[in-house]
Amino acid sequence: MAGYDYDLFVIGGGSGGVRAARVAAALGKRVAIAEEYRFGGTCVIRGCVPKKLYVYASQFPEHFADAAGYGWTVPEASFDWQTLVANKDKEIARLEAIYKRNVEGSGGETFHSRAVLVDRHSIYLVAEDRTVSADQILIATGGRPAPHPALSGHEYCIFSNEAFDLKELPKAIVIEGGGYIAVEFANIFHGLGVDTTLVYRGQEILSRFDIDLRRSLHETMEKKGIRILCHAVSESVRKTAEGRLDVQLNTGQTLTADQVMLAIGRIPNTENMGLEGVGIELGKTGAIVVDQYSRTNIDNIWAIGDVTHRVQLTPVAIHEAICFIETAFKDNPTAPDHDTIPTAVFSQPEIGTVGLSEDDAIKRYPDVEIYRASFRPMRHTLSGRDEKMLIKLVVDGASRKVIGAHILGPDAGEMAQLLGIPLKAGLTKDDFDRTMAVHPTAAEELVTMYKPTYRVKNGERV
Ligand SMILES: Cc1cc2nc3c(=O)[nH]c(=O)nc-3n(C[C@H](O)[C@H](O)[C@H](O)COP(=O)(O)OP(=O)(O)OC[C@H]3O[C@@H](n4cnc5c(N)ncnc54)[C@H](O)[C@@H]3O)c2cc1C
Repeated sequence: MAGYDYDLFVIGGGSGGVRAARVAAALGKRVAIAEEYRFGGTCVIRGCVPKKLYVYASQFPEHFADAAGYGWTVPEASFDWQTLVANKDKEIARLEAIYKRNVEGSGGETFHSRAVLVDRHSIYLVAEDRTVSADQILIATGGRPAPHPALSGHEYCIFSNEAFDLKELPKAIVIEGGGYIAVEFANIFHGLGVDTTLVYRGQEILSRFDIDLRRSLHETMEKKGIRILCHAVSESVRKTAEGRLDVQLNTGQTLTADQVMLAIGRIPNTENMGLEGVGIELGKTGAIVVDQYSRTNIDNIWAIGDVTHRVQLTPVAIHEAICFIETAFKDNPTAPDHDTIPTAVFSQPEIGTVGLSEDDAIKRYPDVEIYRASFRPMRHTLSGRDEKMLIKLVVDGASRKVIGAHILGPDAGEMAQLLGIPLKAGLTKDDFDRTMAVHPTAAEELVTMYKPTYRVKNGERV
């Protein structure tokens, strides 16, 4: 080991890479990390963090409108996009500095450079024009929005990266995609007053989530004024004489907008990094293939986070980093646990979910009980807002275990975090029933739905 410059070299300073570098350095290992863009990675610079700040920004018009029912008179509000962008920039710069400082404070070395593999122990730092060596190498280079070169006029389109920093707020936007990023941005732009259309080729937005939530969210978004066109695909994007964009759909419809945002998936960052030269195995989508311990086919090279295309979420990348440290540096082989991951969609209303959807549960269990409550949350009574909350539990009839919990409504993401604990612990519906309600809350429905709304036995609803 002494023959190498470092015990560990990490490529990519995002959620996973920074955590691994920091923890390894704190263990006394000689660690370096290279980041080609900005420390903090996707989550901090152009993902979770700025996204959530923009979600907050976009919720104010509804808060202002809801206030009237509670006796408030709110003067006509105005919004300044440039202020939001500048304040967001300040916050992410603060976080970026913390990420970098955390590595350096633990004794790690940071490089602002693209890193490319030369051989299984050597890394070329482009900005420094030099090669360093390491005993172990961790690739945590994340992913980026999938391009759409087949779309005529794709060069006029933006991705989530650019959406955060537009010079001005568009009057109208078309967002192509039906995943959580497309849905969240549709709500953000609509909330900020932009005429918003979501174009999705599938039957219903947010595939893989519980169908009840998908349909209810779709309905609510449309009620707010977001146009959602399912079974639709953009065929071309053309610049008009007025400098706007005409989007021609396969349905024959033409939409006119100022921005077209593509959110059709994300692809791993594995190109031009010397991976093929070193012989690292890549999967069909270009993701790095790893074993259960995040080790590649080259035994001193590891990969974690989005670049492995397992579960593309920040806490998962961080968890994989911690497991990697246990395995590689603490002689404690630890495989990341990807089972029962709670997650949220910061749509408006929010989705919070953990465990199996109803459809997935009935494929795996012969007897499934569904507990379902749909109601107007208390805060929408005086506000008069016509929006329902949906709470649903999916229970295995044989073991009584709660195997899925799905919420659509205010603070659903916060609830999903708490529900992650009993579901991970394998608690039963009886445990939920024995738990005292907190009143008056919306979440109390989780422990007061005593009778199943319906059962599904061998695929038949009874
Ligand atoms: C719009 C958006 C919203 C999201 N919202 C959420 C959310 O609400 N909750 C959630 O859990 N997840 C969310 N995610 C996903 C989350 O951001 C990712 O899962 C997470 O950032 C993955 O971490 P990572 O360490 O694998 O990669 P990243 O955070 O992407 O970091 C990889 C880093 O590697 C750098 N890099 C790449 N190649 C090289 C190279 N050759 N040399 C040096 N550096 C390199 C990149 O510049 C990047 O900084 C969101 C993502 C997006 C795009």
